[in-house]
Amino acid sequence: MVKVYGHEDVLKVFNNIVSKGKISNAYLFVGEEGLGKRFLAEYFAMMVNCKSDKKPCFACSSCLKMMKKSHPDVFVIEPEGDAIKVDTIRYINGEINIKPYESFKKIFIIDRADKMTTAAQNAFLKTLEEPPSYGLFILISPRAELLLPTVVSRCNIIRFKKEREEVIKEYLVDEKGVKEEEAAILAHLADGNFGEANRLVEEEYKKLRSNTLSELERIFQKKGFEVLDEYEFFEQNKEHIEEILRIFISLLRDVLVYKTTEDLRFIRNVDFSNFIKKLSEELTFERLSNIINKIEQLNLQLDSNINYQLAVENLLLDILGGQ
Ligand SMILES: [Zn+2]
Repeated sequence: MVKVYGHEDVLKVFNNIVSKGKISNAYLFVGEEGLGKRFLAEYFAMMVNCKSDKKPCFACSSCLKMMKKSHPDVFVIEPEGDAIKVDTIRYINGEINIKPYESFKKIFIIDRADKMTTAAQNAFLKTLEEPPSYGLFILISPRAELLLPTVVSRCNIIRFKKEREEVIKEYLVDEKGVKEEEAAILAHLADGNFGEANRLVEEEYKKLRSNTLSELERIFQKKGFEVLDEYEFFEQNKEHIEEILRIFISLLRDVLVYKTTEDLRFIRNVDFSNFIKKLSEELTFERLSNIINKIEQLNLQLDSNINYQLAVENLLLDILGGQ
C-alpha cells in the first residue's frame, strides 16, 4: 500500500484522466523540488496500468510490480551525472516502438527532464510528436521554462504546489515516526516541502546521534556515583529515549565487533572510532554484553509504568558497574 499525503488537486486530475480513459501521450509535472513529483509520477503510472476497477488497487499484478519497482513496462530515466544525454533518448526512441510486455501503456518517467541536453530534447521531439498509442511520457521538471518550448507545447502540464503544514506534519508522524510536537515544528520549518521535511528529520537525527554518543563518552569518564550527574541529559531528552538507547546499542555492538575483528572496516559509527577502540580495550566481552542486556531491558520496560528517573539512574550505575 502506498499512501499519498495531500496533493488532492493532483489526485483529482489523475482520477479524472484515468476514469474517463482520456490519457494523453505526454504530461509534464512542474513544481519545485521536494514536493513529491517523482513519487506521484510513479503513482500515476500505477493508476494507468492497474488492472482493477478502483485504481490503483495495490493488489493486482501490475500494482504489485510497480510497488516493487520492477514493472517491465515502466521505465524511469534520471540524469547521469548532470545530464540526460542524446544516447539515452535514442534508447527511448527505440524502446517505445516495442509494444508493452503486459500492460495497457508503456510508460517512461523522465525525472529532471530539464537536464536533457538540447540535442537530446531535439532527438526526443519526433517521438513526442507521434508516439504509438500505448506510449506515455511523464516528464518532471522544477519549471517548464527550463525545457525547449517545442517540448513543453506537446505536454499536458500538471502543476504541483507546496503542501499544507498539517499534511507535512501527518507525513512526518506516520511515515518518519516523528513525535507530534516535534513534527509540528519541523513541518513549519519545512515550508510545505516534503524533501525539506525529510532533510530536517535527518538533521535532527544527526544532532541527536552525535549528542548521544558524546554523552556516552562522558558517562564512561565518570567514577562511581558521579555518573548520576549525567541523568540530566536523559531528562532533557526524555522524548527521544528509545532512539538514544538504540544509538547506545549500535555503538556498543561496534565495540564488540572491533574487539573480535580489530578491523575498523566492520564498524558502523566510524566517526567515533577512537572511542570504540578505547572501550574495546577497557571492557571485557562479559561486561559489554552485560551493558547491552541492561540497555535492552530498559528499552523493554519503557512502555510499562516505570519510574523513569530511577530506571535511567540504575542503568547509568549498571554501565559503570557492569554487573
Ligand atoms: Zn492494481
